[in-house]
Amino acid sequence: MKALVKSRAERGLWIEDVEEPQTGINDVKIRVLLTAICGTDLHIYEWDSWAQQTIPVPLVIGHEFVGEIVEIGSNVTDFQIGDRVSGEGHVVCGRCRNCMAGRRHLCAHTRGVGVNRAGAFAEYIVLPMTNIWHHAADIPLEVAAIFDPFGNAVHTALAFPVLGEDVLITGAGPIGIMAAAVARHAGARKVVITDLNPYRLELAKHAAHVTEAVNPRDTTLQEVQKKLGMQEGFDVGMEMSGNVHAFRDLLANLSHGAKVAMLGIPSPSEMSIDWANVIFNQYTIRGIYGREMYDTWYKMTVMLQSGLDISKVITHRLAWNQFEEGFTAMHAGNSGKVILDWQNIS
Ligand code: NAD
Ligand code: ZN
Repeated sequence: MKALVKSRAERGLWIEDVEEPQTGINDVKIRVLLTAICGTDLHIYEWDSWAQQTIPVPLVIGHEFVGEIVEIGSNVTDFQIGDRVSGEGHVVCGRCRNCMAGRRHLCAHTRGVGVNRAGAFAEYIVLPMTNIWHHAADIPLEVAAIFDPFGNAVHTALAFPVLGEDVLITGAGPIGIMAAAVARHAGARKVVITDLNPYRLELAKHAAHVTEAVNPRDTTLQEVQKKLGMQEGFDVGMEMSGNVHAFRDLLANLSHGAKVAMLGIPSPSEMSIDWANVIFNQYTIRGIYGREMYDTWYKMTVMLQSGLDISKVITHRLAWNQFEEGFTAMHAGNSGKVILDWQNIS
C-alpha cells in the first residue's frame, strides 16, 4: 500500500510502498479516506530534537483521520465492515491503575499512533477495537477527519465551566480556534483570542466568531479588557500557543480564583512565571493531554448535533500525494486544518 513514511533520520517525509498492516484478533482494519496534518506531524517532518528522540525510523506517521472498516478481528463484535470511524490516537495499556479505574486518558503507558506505532498516512491502518470511534451518520466526513484535534480543543475548553464566564485563549492555531468556538457554544460571555499571525487572527474571527481577536504586539490585554467593560480579568484561561510570553500575559490578565487549562506544549518545556501571582490570586492551573476516552468524543458529537460549527477551521484540501504543499502551508502558519484525501490512489 502507499504510505507517507518517515523513512530516514533527516528532514522530510517520503511516499513509499509498504506492507499492509495485519489485523489481529482484537483489531479493526480501516481504509483511510481523509487525513489531517497535525503540528506533531510537522515536528516529525522537520526532524527537530523531540522527533529525533521519539520517532523510530522507518515509521508511517499521521494520526488524524476518518476511514471505513474493511476487516475485523475474530474477537470484534461491536463494529461492522463499512462503518465510518476514526481512531483515538492514544493506545493505552488497559492494566495500569488509571486504566483499571476507567481513566484511560491518564494511562501511565500510553502510546501514540503515528508517533510510537504505525500511523494513518496510508491506505490502511489497523488499531485495537478499543481505540475505534464510530461516527454518527450526520457528522460531515471532513469534520470527522479532525475529531482528534477537535477533541483536544473540547477537552481543554470544557476542563472548567465557562457558562457566563469571560474566556481568554492564547494561540489561535486550529486548536485554539476550535476551543474558542466550543467556549462560545458552551455559553461563555466574552471569548478573546490572541495570536501574532494576522492570518490566524482573521481565521479566528471568521471560523469561531470570537469577541476579539488580538495581536498582543498591537493591543494589550488590559486595553482589551477596558474596551469590553471588564472589571476583574478573565475567569478562564486556555493556553494554546506553547509560548512563554503568551502564558505570562495570560496569567497577568486573570480574575482572582481563575482557572487555567494548559494544552500548548512549550519548547523548551521549562518556563518561569510569577508564582506569587498564582498563589495570592489562587489560580488553578491544569495540564491537558489528548482526549477523555470517550467522553470527549461523545461531547464533540453532541455539540456538532446541537449547532456547533467548526468546519471553517479547515482551509486546505489536497490530494494525499500533494502533502508537501500542505506541510509548507502549515509551516508558514498560513493555514487552519489541512486535509489530505486518500480516496483516489492510482
Ligand atoms: P499551532 O502551532 O498551529 O498554534 C499555536 C499558535 O500560537 C500559532 O498560531 C502561533 O502563531 C501562536 N503564538 C505563538 N506565539 C504567540 C504569542 N506570544 N501570543 C499568542 N499566540 C502566539 O498549534 P495547534 O495545532 O493549534 O496546537 C496548539 C498547541 O497545543 C501547540 O503548542 C501544540 O503543540 C499543543 N498540542 C497539545 C496537545 C496535548 O495533548 N496537550 C495536543 C495537540 C496539540
Ligand atoms: Zn494504562
